[in-house]
Amino acid sequence: MIQTDILIIGAGPTGLFAVFEAGLLQLKCHLIDALPQPGGQCAEIYPKKPIYDIPGFPEVLAGDLVENLMKQIEPFQPGFTLGERADTIEKLEDGSFIVTTNKGTQHKAPIVAIAGGLGSFEPRKPLLENIGKFEDNGVAYMIKDPEVYRDKKVVIAGGGDSALDWSIFLADVASEVTLVHRRNEFRGALDSVEKVQQLKNKGKINLITPGEIVALHGEAHLESVLVRKKTTAVEDIKLEVDHFIPLFGLSPKLGPISDWGLEIEKNAIKVNTFDYQTNVPGVYAIGDINTYPGKLKLILCGFHEATLMCQSAYQRIFPDKKYVMKYTTVGGVSGFDGSKKEAPKAVVKAIE
Ligand SMILES: Cc1cc2nc3c(=O)[nH]c(=O)nc-3n(C[C@H](O)[C@H](O)[C@H](O)COP(=O)(O)OP(=O)(O)OC[C@H]3O[C@@H](n4cnc5c(N)ncnc54)[C@H](O)[C@@H]3O)c2cc1C
Repeated sequence: MIQTDILIIGAGPTGLFAVFEAGLLQLKCHLIDALPQPGGQCAEIYPKKPIYDIPGFPEVLAGDLVENLMKQIEPFQPGFTLGERADTIEKLEDGSFIVTTNKGTQHKAPIVAIAGGLGSFEPRKPLLENIGKFEDNGVAYMIKDPEVYRDKKVVIAGGGDSALDWSIFLADVASEVTLVHRRNEFRGALDSVEKVQQLKNKGKINLITPGEIVALHGEAHLESVLVRKKTTAVEDIKLEVDHFIPLFGLSPKLGPISDWGLEIEKNAIKVNTFDYQTNVPGVYAIGDINTYPGKLKLILCGFHEATLMCQSAYQRIFPDKKYVMKYTTVGGVSGFDGSKKEAPKAVVKAIE
């Protein structure tokens, strides 16, 4: 069982910055995210788009913002459970919570901060009758650890950046990479399309277009797939494979959080604007996932909400300590250049 002070559901920009604000108050955080990497929408949807409304940054790429946030929270050593969706919450008699993921990982904390953005990103799955049987037995919808595919035969399906980028990457890892796309044109970046073409010419990627996977075969584990190639004539090709990775994109869903007994309005969690607590004491909702009069779905609003949430969480965890926040941060900040790992602190005067 993973134990922490603040359990943050969602490692988007809001959840990541909450770790910093909690760290200033010497509260430990652990983050759960359904995606295999931190960064939420910034990392998943628009890593190369510039953002112009982050204070102090006239322009910053979304991916770079995530990288900076990760650097900023490094001194506080947060824990991560990535590639798992928070599914259930249980309140214990002592007022703390246990949150369990779809993979059965349990987390215990006195405070739960939901920073789930648009909801958890769920993969779009191909309509293949027996695909469920092979999930985690040869079929995966996202790549968490590329080493799993070392010296294996892999088929990737899709026409966007993920399918192209992973095909390029795995060409040097897997023993055989086949990329199947239902059209001749790809939606991804032009230089990635060119790279795939070069790797095809070198015999490092087997490219099948236009085509689609129409059947999966195997006993307990996937053993082969049937690719239907649709040129002038239809041709069915049986490929012996160890892994099939359909990368058809992700769509966000509020998902299981909608059954947690929280007040929901238009797919968002209702909170007060004093400390962004929900109708369940000890459970907060910050960033894009919450709603209140005047709500704006912007990164800087998520940062503000995370800051106030942490102050309130501190008071819930230490109800007998009155404190006066004098300054925001002192010391240690120079450590952000990577030379020092000293954690910054807030000057908090705790009066027992
Ligand atoms: C194309 C585009 C451009 C944008 N440009 C700007 C801009 O210029 N400036 C700006 O301020 N904002 C911009 N935004 C909005 C901004 O990206 C969001 O406001 C911001 O990402 C919200 O951050 P968040 O951390 O609250 O949520 P998210 O970034 O959505 O992250 C939430 C995370 O929670 C995870 N999650 C949800 N539910 C669960 C669960 N049950 N279990 C596990 N994990 C879960 C998700 O997988 C996700 O990673 C833009 C958005 C888009 C789509």
